Amino acid sequence: MSLAVVGSVALDTVETPTGKNTEGLGGAAVFASLAAANYTQVHLVGVVGTDFPEEHVQLMRSKNIDLTGLERVPGRTFRWTGKYHEDVNQRDTLDTQLNVFETFHPKLPKAAAEAKYLFLGNIHPALQLEVLAQSKAEFIAMDSMNLWIQIERARLEEVLAKVHCLIINNDEVYLLTGERNLIRGARKIQNMGPAIVAPKKGEHGCLLFDGPRIFSAPAFPMPEVADPTGAGDTFAGGFMGYIAQQGNADFETLRRAVIHGSVLASYTCEEFGVSRLARATPADLKTRYDAFVELSKF
Ligand code: AMP
Repeated sequence: MSLAVVGSVALDTVETPTGKNTEGLGGAAVFASLAAANYTQVHLVGVVGTDFPEEHVQLMRSKNIDLTGLERVPGRTFRWTGKYHEDVNQRDTLDTQLNVFETFHPKLPKAAAEAKYLFLGNIHPALQLEVLAQSKAEFIAMDSMNLWIQIERARLEEVLAKVHCLIINNDEVYLLTGERNLIRGARKIQNMGPAIVAPKKGEHGCLLFDGPRIFSAPAFPMPEVADPTGAGDTFAGGFMGYIAQQGNADFETLRRAVIHGSVLASYTCEEFGVSRLARATPADLKTRYDAFVELSKF
């Protein structure tokens, strides 16, 4: 079953303790789509400017990602610049240029609108509502960020009331609920709408709340993280792609989906931008999935 993914398509400039990558392919929708394409047909909905390199389009096409919903409009592509600290769990956003993203209103082509699964990347909650009005999805996951929690809370709550799953990081749980404790925070979020809440803990893994049930997964231990940009979106894409492939979201499937998402996120962190994620083969994914099972079995 297919998955629609809506979010940013970007040119990212990223500096980490190990190096720098200038204007590489990025954006939440790109990381999520590349991850999900390992499991299911993906329909990407987003916008780029006339400067968006053709090679990026080709890369996504080569993964069988449906780009009918990727608009190309006059102007410059969205750009984001970030710099990571020695502790790569900490980063500063140095620059955000919305460019063509500023006037973007997502239009879902037929296949994206009819997809049974939907991932709403981190875009303005008003745009997320526009997507929901067009989508016939039966299972919807969303992401958000501190900015929207702070300045668009009412509309964000409207979106939350309509989705099944929120994938979010720890700090955002605190911002949204005032709870430092993830269990209490997740319970409060569940009361706002989504029965499933997946707070990511960066290199410390992910918790999954599904109604009263809890699953805890580690992140894959890595000797070096080159660039964690997009790890969260990659996780979400792998998680949703696997659920769409399985065609259900029962607790057992969700637990495995968390591990698939974590496997893909570990690849994203290994190199700058999407390069390692885009090269991951089915055999790579199986090997790391098995290593994950081994790691957390006792
Ligand atoms: P993550 O590391 O999971 O937070 O995702 C980083 C990705 O989100 C980068 O590829 C950015 O291009 C994209 N991004 C950063 N800021 C925004 C924003 N305000 N709206 C949409 N996408 C963004």
